[in-house]
Amino acid sequence: MFPFLKGAFRTVFFRAPLNARLWLTYRCNYRCRMCGIRDLSTSPEMSLSELETVARHLRALKLHQVILTGGEPLLRGDIVEIVRLFSRHGFLVRLQTNGGIHVTESLLDRCYEAGLNDISVSMDTLDPEKQDRICQATDVLKYAQQVIRYCLDRHGSRGVVAVNVVVSAENLFELPAIIRYIDGMGAFFSPCIFTRPFSHPSVEDHRHKGDPFSLSALDTARVGRLFEDLRGLIRENRRVLMSTRLLNDLERYIRTGDHQWECRAGELSMDILPSGELIPCCDTADSALESPSANLKRDDFLRIYRSPAFRKKCVNRRSQCPGCLYGCYREPTYLATDWRVLLEALYKTIRFKRLF
Ligand code: SF4
Ligand code: SF4
Repeated sequence: MFPFLKGAFRTVFFRAPLNARLWLTYRCNYRCRMCGIRDLSTSPEMSLSELETVARHLRALKLHQVILTGGEPLLRGDIVEIVRLFSRHGFLVRLQTNGGIHVTESLLDRCYEAGLNDISVSMDTLDPEKQDRICQATDVLKYAQQVIRYCLDRHGSRGVVAVNVVVSAENLFELPAIIRYIDGMGAFFSPCIFTRPFSHPSVEDHRHKGDPFSLSALDTARVGRLFEDLRGLIRENRRVLMSTRLLNDLERYIRTGDHQWECRAGELSMDILPSGELIPCCDTADSALESPSANLKRDDFLRIYRSPAFRKKCVNRRSQCPGCLYGCYREPTYLATDWRVLLEALYKTIRFKRLF
C-alpha cells in the first residue's frame, strides 16, 4: 500500500504528477476502428539510452507511475529491458497491451521478472465477433482472455491485472455484464471513455474516428436503468477502477452532452510521444509541434518544462479544448482535489490489497 500512499501524498500536497503515459511506439498489430495511431507507425522510436534520460527527468519531477503504452508496446523487441529500466528508477510500472497472439507466456514472465507491477489488457465486449469487428482482426477476444487469465494465475499477487474497456455506443449497455465477467475472473475493470466522435484536423484525430462509437442519441430511460446498475456494482465492491464521480460525469455527459471540466493535463498527468516530446494528453499530440517543446530525451527538458512559456502553452491548449471524459487525466486531478475520490481510492487499496 505504501507506494500508492506516497504517490497520492505527493500529488495531493506537492502537486507532483501522478503518472505519465509513455508511448513507446506507434506500431500496432491491430487496426481498431476508433484508432488512427497506425497512420503514424513509421515514426522513429526512442532507444534504451534515450529512455534512460527520460527516466532521469521523470524522477526529477517526482513522478509516481509510468504507463508503458503505444501503439502496442509489446511489439518492441527491447520491452523487457525497458520495463527493467523504469523499475530500476523506482517507478510503479504498468504495461498496456492489446493482448494479441504476440504476447506469449514467456514474454509476460520476463516482463514481470524485470519489475513489472501492473498490466492492463484491452477487451471491449464479451461478443467475439463484435470484438473482431472493432479491432479488424481475428480471435482478438480469445487471445486477450488467455493473457488476462495467465497474468492472474501466474502473477496476480504482484499487482493489478486490469482490463481496459473503451466505452462507446458499441458496448455501453453491455457494461454491467462486462464488469461482472471481469470481476469474476479476479481482474479490475478500467474504462477508457470515448466521448468525442468528431474529427480534429491534426494527428490527434486518432481517437475520434467513426460515428458508430458515439455516445449520443441514446434512450434516456434505458440510460437511467444502466447507471443504477453500474452504481450498484460499485456499491457491491466489484473490481472497478473508476471513481463514482467519473461514473456520474459519464451519465451527465450522455444526458446533456456536457463533458467540460477543469482540466489539469500536463501537470498531474501527461503523455510522452515516441519522439520524447511531452504533451498534456493524448488528444493534444500536435502541441508537440508548437514552441516551446519539452522533449524528455534532451538535456534542457527540465528548464523548458518548468518555464512559464511551457506552462502557458499547456494552459492555452486546455482552454481551447471542448472537454473529454478520459479517466487517465480526470482521475489524478480528482484525486488531488476531491477528498471523496481520495477516500474511495484508499478504500479500494485496502479492500483489494492492491496499489492503484
Ligand atoms: S486502439 Fe490500441 S490495439 Fe487498437 S489499433 Fe489502436 S493502439 Fe492498436
Ligand atoms: S479536456 Fe484536457 S485531457 Fe481532455 S482532451 Fe481536452 S486537453 Fe486533453
